[in-house]
Amino acid sequence: MDEEKRDMPAVGLPLAGKTALVTGAGSGIGRASALELARAGANVCLLDLIGERTEDVEEEIRGMGREAEFYDVDVSDPVRMERAVRAAAERFGSMDVVFANAGINGTLAPIEDLTPESWDETLGINLRGTFLTVKNAVPHMKEKGGSIVVTSSINGNRKFSGFGMSAYSASKAGQVAFAKMAALELARYRIRVNAICPGGIRTNIGENTDSTKQVEKIRIPVEYPEGAHPLEHGPGRPEQVADLVLFLASDRSSHITGTEIYIDGAETLL
Ligand code: NAD
Repeated sequence: MDEEKRDMPAVGLPLAGKTALVTGAGSGIGRASALELARAGANVCLLDLIGERTEDVEEEIRGMGREAEFYDVDVSDPVRMERAVRAAAERFGSMDVVFANAGINGTLAPIEDLTPESWDETLGINLRGTFLTVKNAVPHMKEKGGSIVVTSSINGNRKFSGFGMSAYSASKAGQVAFAKMAALELARYRIRVNAICPGGIRTNIGENTDSTKQVEKIRIPVEYPEGAHPLEHGPGRPEQVADLVLFLASDRSSHITGTEIYIDGAETLL
């Protein structure tokens, strides 16, 4: 962490005194965003599957003088999600920002090889998990209003990234549709809801991806040299996505709701 970012008093910061809940906070985009929201003054509830991965995030946030608490929960589990979000709201006294971000690539296989179980796993974590995060947060947000950000993907509707992505793409498109309907439905509570659609970001998401059935013989048609990217630095960094999450979380985006924002360095325009 940069020295000048350590021990920043929250007063005057955009999220001073606010509580943010982040799912998938132990790694990649969720982790970088949890830290950025804390730098902006928020106390942060960290939800993830893997306890130990968030320990240093908790420590770093506490080092900034904010509060942080880890909740070990599978976002697709309705009972445990209800319990975790309620416990977080009770512990922090409010819920102002929600970042529904946890997600997996799941099994990447052609449709005829994709099992219903694999389909359900991907849709369960990415789409049902988003629904459960928002559903359980709303009761704690509706009195004061707030901001919800959902991590979709360029794969949601813009980019063809290869055969075997049907479940992932369906889940990501579903997240955008869900965010738009939620924005309309929750506007009466002054809750804004937006989806972000990252392009390739350097994270750990490939680690647990089953791509053994992604058939080699089907080549991904690319119009530009493999690995090329419009921006010189290539795929993005989680911290660059975190900057967008902070913007959408703060009042700087007070008239932005029900939209999807691409953060892909023009990757999808190639
Ligand atoms: P990551 O694997 O680095 O982080 C994802 C986190 O989610 C992990 O900490 C993981 O433990 C957690 N998680 C997974 N399943 C969970 C579950 N059932 N319950 C609770 N937590 C769970 O990946 P990332 O790239 O930071 O992914 C974050 C989001 O960004 C995902 O929704 C992903 O689809 C999306 N995304 C990523 C990219 C990319 O290129 N990395 C591009 C577009 C969209």
